Parts: sequence; C-alpha cells; structure tokens
Amino acid sequence: MRELYLKAPAKINLALHIKGLRDDGFHELQMIMQSISLADRIKLKKKSGGIIVKTSHTELPTGKENLAYQAAEIFLKQNPEITQGVEIYIEKNIPIAAGMAGGSTDAAAVMRGLYQLFELEVDFNKMRQALETIGSDVPYCLEGGTVYASGRGEILEPLPFIGEKYLVVVTPAFKISTPMVYKLYDNLKGYQDFNFDLLLANLKNEGEIDWQLDYKNDLKKAAENICPEIKEIKDIFKNTKAEFTMISGSGPTVFSIYSSRELAEKAAANWPRKNDFVTAVRTIDSY
Ligand code: ATP
Repeated sequence: MRELYLKAPAKINLALHIKGLRDDGFHELQMIMQSISLADRIKLKKKSGGIIVKTSHTELPTGKENLAYQAAEIFLKQNPEITQGVEIYIEKNIPIAAGMAGGSTDAAAVMRGLYQLFELEVDFNKMRQALETIGSDVPYCLEGGTVYASGRGEILEPLPFIGEKYLVVVTPAFKISTPMVYKLYDNLKGYQDFNFDLLLANLKNEGEIDWQLDYKNDLKKAAENICPEIKEIKDIFKNTKAEFTMISGSGPTVFSIYSSRELAEKAAANWPRKNDFVTAVRTIDSY
C-alpha cells in the first residue's frame, strides 16, 4: 500500500465534571465523550524518509507542534524496522481550539493509519499508551463512540452507542485556550454537585437519554466568562426547538441536539450570526 485516506472525527462532551485538582497539577475528570460526523480528512503517503505535514488550514503548524506529526514521530520510533517516512495531508474541517479535540483526533487517525499503511499488526493498547503522551484525550480518539472517560481523560470505558442523533454545532470565531479555561475555573472555585453515577446508569440501560439528569459541563461558567458570545449562541438555540444545548469541552463550541434531522438542518440553515462556523451533523458509533 502506498497511500491511504482516513477520517478523523470530532467529539463533543455530553457531560464534563471536574472532581478536583490532583497532586500532579492535572484535574481529575469525569466525562461522557461522543463522536460526531464532522471530521478532518487525512491522506497518508509513504515517502523515502522523514515526516512532512501539509494542511488546508493556513493557521495550523506543520512542524513538530502539529499533533499529527508527533503521532508519526512516535510511530516511527516504536517501529525502527520501517526505514521509509510519511507525508501527511490534513484537510481541516474541525474548527481549531474549539473544544472538539481537532488536533487529538488527527494524531489518533495518523497512528491508526500508519499501522494500516505499513501493514503492521494492530495493537490498540500499545497505540493508546503511545498516544497518551501527546494528550489526555488522544487515546479516546483512536476508536471514538460513546465513552465514559475518567482520570485526566485517558481512562476509557466504552458505553452503548446513544444512537443516531442530529445536532447543530456552532463555533464562534474565537479561539479558546483550554489551560486558560481550567485556570479560570480554579479561580472561580465553581465546584458543583454532580450526580455522575445516575448519568452512567442512564447511559448503560440503553434506553432514551434523560436530559433532565446532570448532563452538564463544569467548565461552562469559566468558558462563558472568557467568551461571552457563548451565551448569545445559547440564546439563539433556545428558540429552535432543541432538546438539549451545551458547550463542548472548554468551548467555545456550543451544540444542540434535535429530535429530527429536519429540525437540525432548519436550525443550521437559518442561523443568524454570519461569522460563526455552523454545521448540522450526527452522532456516530465507534470506528
Ligand atoms: P480539546 O477539545 O482536545 O481541548 P481543541 O479542539 O480545543 O482540543 P485543537 O483544535 O486540538 O483544540 O487545537 C489546540 C491547539 O493545538 C491549537 O493551538 C493548534 O495550533 C494545535 N494543534 C496542533 N496540531 C493540530 C492539529 N492537527 N489540528 C488542530 N490543532 C492542532
């Protein structure tokens, strides 16, 4: 095989709870992760040696700072028998620094893809361990789906797929730095009760989701403080017959889930804020 095309799906958080600050400086988290059909497209092509990253997005780094580059570098180090290199092309469709794990999913896709491209036996545990060194949510992006993530986000427990749901994802033209949101969260000391066990029970029984449970995001207040547009976006969603509206990760992306594809497409088509990134997508199962 000389080249390979693959998708790198984005994620949203159906719930994000911060249990506290750990001794190592990281936050102890409980999250429900969900993959969506919005995806970057990646092309991998063998070359004589080294790693080259090219992308459709002018703002993205193409050197070692690119998480996809880092994944390729780890792969080549772990498999020294491979003497060839790789050219990575990223068609960037997921907004950057938006709370949808755009960089993490590219890294995970490149790792997955390189195993295929060089026809190596797939070892998910090895891949997950390697990807964790790039970022806490990168191991999740390897297979995606509906997952309970804890620890720093790297401890994964697959849950039954919540089924195909239609949603609208809106990202204002405002990049949010994830560490900045966590820092403000710590300063605001906005700890709140969160009944995560009930959420997990709800998701495990494979019935319909009860949105009245604690499906919420502890980072909401901090993210809204940094980006007041989040509130404006939520207000618009309120008038669109959405079943459920929430920010994803550390924001500023806001998503709404609808009871039908038509309602989601209508809300996206009539979106009034012209500078926002808006798309109607669906939830997807693990890949
Ligand atoms: P998360 O939801 O994991 O917090 P995010 O969606 O908020 O992530 P990313 O889109 O992953 O944020 O981007 C965060 C930073 O990572 C940006 O500053 C960006 O320059 C850098 N980055 C490195 N590689 C990539 C990549 N392949 N795609 C997107 N961003 C990348």
